[in-house]
Amino acid sequence: MSQSDARIVIVGAGHAGGSAAAFLRQYGWKGPITLVGEEPIAPYQRPPLSKAWLKGEADAASLALRPDSFYPSSDIALRLATSAVGIDREARAVALSSGETLAYDHLILALGSRARKLSLPGLSLAGVLELRTVAEADQLKAALGPGKRLAVIGGGYIGLEAAASARALGAEAVVIERESRVLARVACPELSAFFQDYHRAKGVEIVVGAAIEALEGVDGHVTGVRLSDGRLIGCDAVLVGVGAAANEELARDAGLACNGGIVVDLAARTADPLIHAIGDCTHRPLPLYESMGRLESVPNALEQAKQAAADLCGRAPPTPEVPWFWSDQYDLRLQIAGLPLGAAETVLRGDPAAAQFAIFHLDADERLLAVEAINATPEFMGGRIMIGKRKKIPGKKLRDMSLSMRDLAA
Ligand code: NAP
Repeated sequence: MSQSDARIVIVGAGHAGGSAAAFLRQYGWKGPITLVGEEPIAPYQRPPLSKAWLKGEADAASLALRPDSFYPSSDIALRLATSAVGIDREARAVALSSGETLAYDHLILALGSRARKLSLPGLSLAGVLELRTVAEADQLKAALGPGKRLAVIGGGYIGLEAAASARALGAEAVVIERESRVLARVACPELSAFFQDYHRAKGVEIVVGAAIEALEGVDGHVTGVRLSDGRLIGCDAVLVGVGAAANEELARDAGLACNGGIVVDLAARTADPLIHAIGDCTHRPLPLYESMGRLESVPNALEQAKQAAADLCGRAPPTPEVPWFWSDQYDLRLQIAGLPLGAAETVLRGDPAAAQFAIFHLDADERLLAVEAINATPEFMGGRIMIGKRKKIPGKKLRDMSLSMRDLAA
């Protein structure tokens, strides 16, 4: 079959799936492309949901990944409000929730991740919310405002960003985290301490090392979070933000290897030559760290969308990128590049008291592995370049503010 006849089906219309469709057209794919998405709206950006969207500072057009006209004009068929329920690899077909099947020549799985569920009494009370979709963000927004109190379970990105947005909307917020510090999975202890202090100074109550026993309610609506030490944290709404799990079941049921994510290579290929997988749902190589892992981030969704599109269009694979992440809370911009896997030394540059600093992580050979920067974009950018070059740099040079990041990274 010539390429121009080949049908590509992309399952998942999030950042990864929507971007893959666009890159395929950009790289010259001529065959039919169908994008299947569970939500009723065209691909949109999730990062603003816990920030600008929640605060009412973004509209639907600014949330959209591309204007609505992009899909018909690029000949990309959107099948929205539709989920894939099975893959028949022999017949090369995807079964849809509508009862139809979609035949494919190439399949891209961009299945995303889902909010982890807690197992607690009271979870079905009204006012207990999650934040993953625009519909859920709208529910949360309706629960916030002056005189309201939001309890957030989980001190990760979702929890802290939602707490900052709640404060901006005049609501009270309390963050309940089971670890001994917030951002325990994604940031170093020094950064966690900085964020805890900053949130507390903004009026957010932070409870760490907390075990939750139940959610309590009156007349079917949540009114509080009961901790195992007996404390009751009163609230008008609860946001559960306790992490995300890969949507890998469709692939696993089709016999593809999964390991907390669909296993792929650096071209986003699964073991089936006709199936690629991209984004949050994948367990992917991390070549800079000679490791494998799952990255939950927009830059990763874009990188793997490029890898899959380049592979299908016969282009050279893109150069592997340094993983990076960001979070906006109040007037703080956190930017993280790299992963501190195997870090032996931590170096502080800048001034935490002025809310402008970076923490660098080096291995035992002084090779830069990761940087966490607060309102310090040059440190983030320079760090990202050095990590990509696997550059060795003495901690005392990084600490020295008289040396510019541009010179250090050169
Ligand atoms: P997260 O960053 O993994 O944070 C979840 C936190 O909740 C972890 O610290 C976790 O601790 C804690 N937790 C788990 N079970 C708990 C319990 N029973 N009681 C109290 N705390 C508990 O995940 P998230 O904040 O829910 O975010 C979900 C997804 O959205 C992720 O993919 C995230 O990357 C994405 N997101 C990203 C951004 C950004 O990059 N700026 C912003 C918003 C959302 P353990 O480590 O012990 O499980």
